[in-house]
Amino acid sequence: MAKVWFVGAGPGDPDLITVRGRALLARAGAVLYAGSLVSPGHLQYLPATCTVADSSGMTLEEMVAWLLAQAGQHPEVVRLQTGDPSLYGALAETAGPLLASGIEVGVIPGVSSAMASAAVAVETLTLPEVTQTVILTRVAGRTPMPDGEQLQALARHRCTLCIFLSATLVETVAAELIAAGWSPTAPLLVVHKASWPGEEQVIRTNVSDLANLCRSLPVQGQTMIIASPALTAARHAMPLETRSRLYDPAFTHGFRSAISTE
Ligand code: SAH
Repeated sequence: MAKVWFVGAGPGDPDLITVRGRALLARAGAVLYAGSLVSPGHLQYLPATCTVADSSGMTLEEMVAWLLAQAGQHPEVVRLQTGDPSLYGALAETAGPLLASGIEVGVIPGVSSAMASAAVAVETLTLPEVTQTVILTRVAGRTPMPDGEQLQALARHRCTLCIFLSATLVETVAAELIAAGWSPTAPLLVVHKASWPGEEQVIRTNVSDLANLCRSLPVQGQTMIIASPALTAARHAMPLETRSRLYDPAFTHGFRSAISTE
Protein backbone atom coordinates (compact mmCIF):
# COMPACT_ATOMS: atom_id res chain seq x y z
CA MET A 1 0.00 0.00 0.00
CA ALA A 2 1.21 3.51 -0.78
CA LYS A 3 2.38 5.76 2.00
CA VAL A 4 2.46 9.54 2.02
CA TRP A 5 5.17 11.00 4.22
CA PHE A 6 4.96 14.50 5.68
CA VAL A 7 8.60 15.44 6.02
CA GLY A 8 9.92 18.42 7.97
CA ALA A 9 12.52 20.11 5.77
CA GLY A 10 13.91 22.16 8.65
CA PRO A 11 14.06 25.95 8.83
CA GLY A 12 15.97 26.73 5.64
CA ASP A 13 19.46 25.36 5.13
CA PRO A 14 19.00 21.97 3.41
CA ASP A 15 21.56 20.50 5.84
CA LEU A 16 19.07 20.90 8.69
CA ILE A 17 16.71 18.17 7.48
CA THR A 18 16.94 14.91 9.46
CA VAL A 19 18.94 11.95 8.14
CA ARG A 20 15.66 10.04 7.85
CA GLY A 21 14.03 12.87 5.91
CA ARG A 22 16.95 13.07 3.46
CA ALA A 23 16.85 9.29 2.95
CA LEU A 24 13.16 9.48 2.12
CA LEU A 25 13.74 12.25 -0.40
CA ALA A 26 16.42 10.09 -2.02
CA ARG A 27 13.94 7.26 -2.68
CA ALA A 28 10.65 9.14 -3.12
CA GLY A 29 8.52 8.46 -6.18
CA ALA A 30 6.93 11.90 -6.00
CA VAL A 31 7.54 15.06 -3.94
CA LEU A 32 5.19 17.97 -3.32
CA TYR A 33 7.26 20.74 -1.78
CA ALA A 34 6.20 24.07 -0.28
CA GLY A 35 8.19 26.23 -2.69
CA SER A 36 7.42 29.49 -0.90
CA LEU A 37 9.24 28.37 2.27
CA VAL A 38 11.33 25.28 1.50
CA SER A 39 14.79 25.68 -0.04
CA PRO A 40 15.10 24.37 -3.63
CA GLY A 41 18.45 23.00 -2.39
CA HIS A 42 16.57 19.89 -1.21
CA LEU A 43 15.59 18.98 -4.75
CA GLN A 44 19.11 17.90 -5.76
CA TYR A 45 18.68 14.83 -3.52
CA LEU A 46 15.63 13.48 -5.37
CA PRO A 47 15.98 10.53 -7.76
CA ALA A 48 16.11 11.57 -11.42
CA THR A 49 12.80 9.79 -12.04
CA CYS A 50 10.96 11.58 -9.19
CA THR A 51 7.81 13.55 -10.05
CA VAL A 52 8.08 16.99 -8.44
CA ALA A 53 5.55 19.77 -7.89
CA ASP A 54 5.61 23.07 -6.01
CA SER A 55 2.54 23.58 -3.84
CA SER A 56 2.90 27.36 -3.49
CA GLY A 57 0.19 28.11 -6.06
CA MET A 58 -2.12 25.22 -5.07
CA THR A 59 -5.24 25.11 -2.92
CA LEU A 60 -5.60 22.43 -0.26
CA GLU A 61 -7.94 20.48 -2.53
CA GLU A 62 -5.37 20.56 -5.35
CA MET A 63 -2.62 19.40 -3.00
CA VAL A 64 -4.70 16.51 -1.71
CA ALA A 65 -5.71 15.52 -5.25
CA TRP A 66 -2.05 15.59 -6.34
CA LEU A 67 -0.91 13.48 -3.38
CA LEU A 68 -3.75 10.98 -3.93
CA ALA A 69 -2.92 10.66 -7.63
CA GLN A 70 0.78 10.13 -6.91
CA ALA A 71 0.02 7.61 -4.17
CA GLY A 72 -1.78 5.60 -6.85
CA GLN A 73 1.50 5.33 -8.77
CA HIS A 74 4.33 5.24 -6.23
CA PRO A 75 4.89 3.34 -2.98
CA GLU A 76 6.31 6.42 -1.24
CA VAL A 77 5.24 10.01 -1.78
CA VAL A 78 6.62 12.99 0.15
CA ARG A 79 4.98 16.21 1.22
CA LEU A 80 8.02 18.37 2.06
CA GLN A 81 7.26 21.30 4.30
CA THR A 82 9.10 23.90 6.30
CA GLY A 83 10.34 23.40 9.86
CA ASP A 84 8.33 20.74 11.66
CA PRO A 85 5.09 19.52 10.04
CA SER A 86 3.11 19.68 13.30
CA LEU A 87 3.43 23.46 13.60
CA TYR A 88 1.26 25.70 11.40
CA GLY A 89 1.63 23.17 8.61
CA ALA A 90 -1.97 22.24 7.65
CA LEU A 91 -1.09 18.65 8.60
CA ALA A 92 -4.56 17.66 9.79
CA GLU A 93 -6.34 19.15 6.78
CA THR A 94 -3.97 17.47 4.33
CA ALA A 95 -3.51 14.10 6.04
CA GLY A 96 -7.21 13.72 6.89
CA PRO A 97 -8.51 13.12 3.35
CA LEU A 98 -5.56 10.77 2.65
CA LEU A 99 -6.32 8.66 5.73
CA ALA A 100 -10.00 8.67 4.78
CA SER A 101 -9.03 7.27 1.38
CA GLY A 102 -7.13 4.40 3.00
CA ILE A 103 -3.66 5.82 2.31
CA GLU A 104 -1.06 5.25 5.01
CA VAL A 105 0.45 8.44 6.42
CA GLY A 106 3.75 8.99 8.24
CA VAL A 107 5.41 12.10 9.65
CA ILE A 108 9.14 12.78 9.88
CA PRO A 109 9.73 15.61 12.34
CA GLY A 110 11.85 18.61 11.44
CA VAL A 111 13.88 21.33 13.11
CA SER A 112 11.38 24.07 13.77
CA SER A 113 12.29 27.69 13.01
CA ALA A 114 11.74 28.38 16.72
CA MET A 115 14.67 26.12 17.60
CA ALA A 116 16.77 27.34 14.68
CA SER A 117 16.20 30.97 15.70
CA ALA A 118 17.34 30.30 19.27
CA ALA A 119 20.34 28.40 17.91
CA VAL A 120 21.66 31.12 15.61
CA ALA A 121 21.58 33.61 18.47
CA VAL A 122 23.11 31.16 21.03
CA GLU A 123 20.04 31.54 23.22
CA THR A 124 18.44 29.07 25.61
CA LEU A 125 14.65 29.00 25.77
CA THR A 126 14.59 27.55 29.29
CA LEU A 127 16.68 28.67 32.23
CA PRO A 128 16.44 27.28 35.78
CA GLU A 129 14.68 29.63 38.21
CA VAL A 130 13.87 32.03 35.35
CA THR A 131 11.59 30.15 32.98
CA GLN A 132 10.92 26.47 32.44
CA THR A 133 8.16 26.87 29.88
CA VAL A 134 8.05 27.68 26.17
CA ILE A 135 4.89 28.75 24.39
CA LEU A 136 4.80 28.47 20.60
CA THR A 137 2.16 30.91 19.40
CA ARG A 138 1.17 33.69 17.01
CA VAL A 139 -1.11 36.69 17.05
CA ALA A 140 -4.40 36.72 15.16
CA GLY A 141 -4.09 37.58 11.49
CA ARG A 142 -6.63 36.22 9.07
CA THR A 143 -6.61 33.15 11.35
CA PRO A 144 -8.30 34.14 14.61
CA MET A 145 -6.91 33.03 17.98
CA PRO A 146 -9.04 30.64 20.05
CA ASP A 147 -10.48 32.03 23.28
CA GLY A 148 -7.91 32.39 26.03
CA GLU A 149 -4.95 32.25 23.62
CA GLN A 150 -4.52 35.97 22.97
CA LEU A 151 -0.85 36.91 23.31
CA GLN A 152 -1.73 39.24 26.16
CA ALA A 153 -3.08 36.28 28.18
CA LEU A 154 -0.19 33.96 27.34
CA ALA A 155 2.43 36.65 28.01
CA ARG A 156 1.23 36.97 31.61
CA HIS A 157 3.04 33.69 32.30
CA ARG A 158 6.36 35.54 31.82
CA CYS A 159 7.80 32.46 30.17
CA THR A 160 9.47 32.15 26.76
CA LEU A 161 7.21 33.03 23.82
CA CYS A 162 8.17 31.99 20.30
CA ILE A 163 5.90 34.06 18.11
CA PHE A 164 5.35 32.71 14.60
CA LEU A 165 3.54 34.30 11.64
CA SER A 166 3.40 37.74 13.21
CA ALA A 167 6.11 39.89 11.61
CA THR A 168 3.49 42.01 9.84
CA LEU A 169 1.60 42.43 13.11
CA VAL A 170 4.41 43.73 15.28
CA GLU A 171 2.39 46.67 16.67
CA THR A 172 -0.06 44.12 18.05
CA VAL A 173 2.76 41.95 19.43
CA ALA A 174 4.32 44.92 21.25
CA ALA A 175 0.96 46.23 22.53
CA GLU A 176 -0.05 42.84 23.91
CA LEU A 177 3.29 42.32 25.66
CA ILE A 178 2.98 45.76 27.27
CA ALA A 179 -0.63 45.05 28.27
CA ALA A 180 0.60 41.85 29.94
CA GLY A 181 3.08 43.86 31.99
CA TRP A 182 6.30 43.36 30.02
CA SER A 183 8.67 46.30 30.22
CA PRO A 184 9.12 48.43 27.07
CA THR A 185 12.84 47.72 27.46
CA ALA A 186 12.43 43.92 27.75
CA PRO A 187 14.80 42.33 25.22
CA LEU A 188 13.40 40.61 22.14
CA LEU A 189 15.09 38.46 19.56
CA VAL A 190 13.98 38.76 15.94
CA VAL A 191 15.41 36.26 13.48
CA HIS A 192 14.72 36.57 9.79
CA LYS A 193 15.36 33.53 7.59
CA ALA A 194 17.14 31.56 10.30
CA SER A 195 19.74 29.22 8.78
CA TRP A 196 19.25 30.40 5.18
CA PRO A 197 22.83 30.76 3.90
CA GLY A 198 23.62 34.42 3.18
CA GLU A 199 20.10 35.64 4.05
CA GLU A 200 19.82 35.15 7.79
CA GLN A 201 19.44 38.25 9.96
CA VAL A 202 19.66 38.16 13.74
CA ILE A 203 18.34 41.30 15.37
CA ARG A 204 18.27 42.14 19.04
CA THR A 205 15.74 44.75 20.00
CA ASN A 206 13.23 45.48 22.74
CA VAL A 207 9.47 45.71 23.03
CA SER A 208 9.18 49.43 22.27
CA ASP A 209 11.53 49.35 19.24
CA LEU A 210 10.09 46.19 17.67
CA ALA A 211 7.62 47.80 15.28
CA ASN A 212 10.05 50.28 13.68
CA LEU A 213 12.66 47.65 13.30
CA CYS A 214 10.48 45.06 11.60
CA ARG A 215 9.17 47.57 9.08
CA SER A 216 12.73 47.87 7.76
CA LEU A 217 13.08 44.14 7.05
CA PRO A 218 13.16 43.31 3.32
CA VAL A 219 10.79 40.32 3.58
CA GLN A 220 8.62 39.82 6.60
CA GLY A 221 7.37 36.31 5.92
CA GLN A 222 10.04 34.15 7.48
CA THR A 223 10.58 35.98 10.73
CA MET A 224 10.50 34.61 14.28
CA ILE A 225 10.04 36.85 17.31
CA ILE A 226 11.24 35.46 20.63
CA ALA A 227 10.32 37.17 23.89
CA SER A 228 11.91 35.57 26.91
CA PRO A 229 13.29 36.45 30.35
CA ALA A 230 16.07 33.98 29.48
CA LEU A 231 17.37 36.07 26.55
CA THR A 232 21.06 37.00 26.67
CA ALA A 233 21.73 34.59 29.58
CA ALA A 234 24.84 33.19 27.89
CA ARG A 235 26.30 36.68 27.69
CA HIS A 236 26.14 37.37 31.41
CA ALA A 237 27.74 35.81 34.46
CA MET A 238 25.02 33.49 35.68
CA PRO A 239 24.02 33.38 39.32
CA LEU A 240 24.57 29.87 40.71
CA GLU A 241 20.86 29.22 41.28
CA THR A 242 20.07 29.62 37.58
CA ARG A 243 22.52 26.87 36.56
CA SER A 244 21.13 23.54 35.46
CA ARG A 245 20.93 21.11 38.40
CA LEU A 246 21.99 18.30 36.09
CA TYR A 247 25.59 19.58 36.00
CA ASP A 248 25.70 20.97 39.54
CA PRO A 249 28.72 19.44 41.37
CA ALA A 250 26.56 19.15 44.53
CA PHE A 251 23.79 17.23 42.78
CA THR A 252 23.57 13.42 42.62
CA HIS A 253 21.65 11.72 39.81
CA GLY A 254 21.52 8.38 38.04
CA PHE A 255 24.77 8.93 36.15
CA ARG A 256 26.92 10.79 38.66
CA SER A 257 27.42 11.23 42.42
CA ALA A 258 27.72 14.65 44.03
CA ILE A 259 31.29 15.82 44.57
CA SER A 260 31.79 16.34 48.28
CA THR A 261 32.83 19.90 49.11
CA GLU A 262 33.59 19.23 52.82
N1 SAH B 1 6.35 24.51 10.52
C1 SAH B 1 7.17 25.70 10.57
C2 SAH B 1 6.36 26.97 10.74
C3 SAH B 1 5.52 27.31 9.52
S1 SAH B 1 4.61 28.79 9.71
C4 SAH B 1 8.23 25.55 11.68
O1 SAH B 1 8.19 24.56 12.43
O2 SAH B 1 9.12 26.39 11.75
C5 SAH B 1 5.69 29.97 9.00
C6 SAH B 1 6.29 30.86 10.07
O3 SAH B 1 7.41 30.19 10.65
C7 SAH B 1 6.84 32.19 9.58
O4 SAH B 1 5.86 33.19 9.57
C8 SAH B 1 7.91 32.50 10.60
O5 SAH B 1 7.34 33.03 11.78
C9 SAH B 1 8.43 31.11 10.92
N2 SAH B 1 9.60 30.75 10.11
C10 SAH B 1 9.67 29.78 9.16
N3 SAH B 1 10.92 29.67 8.69
C11 SAH B 1 11.67 30.58 9.36
C12 SAH B 1 13.05 30.92 9.36
N4 SAH B 1 13.92 30.29 8.58
N5 SAH B 1 13.46 31.91 10.20
C13 SAH B 1 12.61 32.53 11.04
N6 SAH B 1 11.29 32.24 11.09
C14 SAH B 1 10.83 31.28 10.27
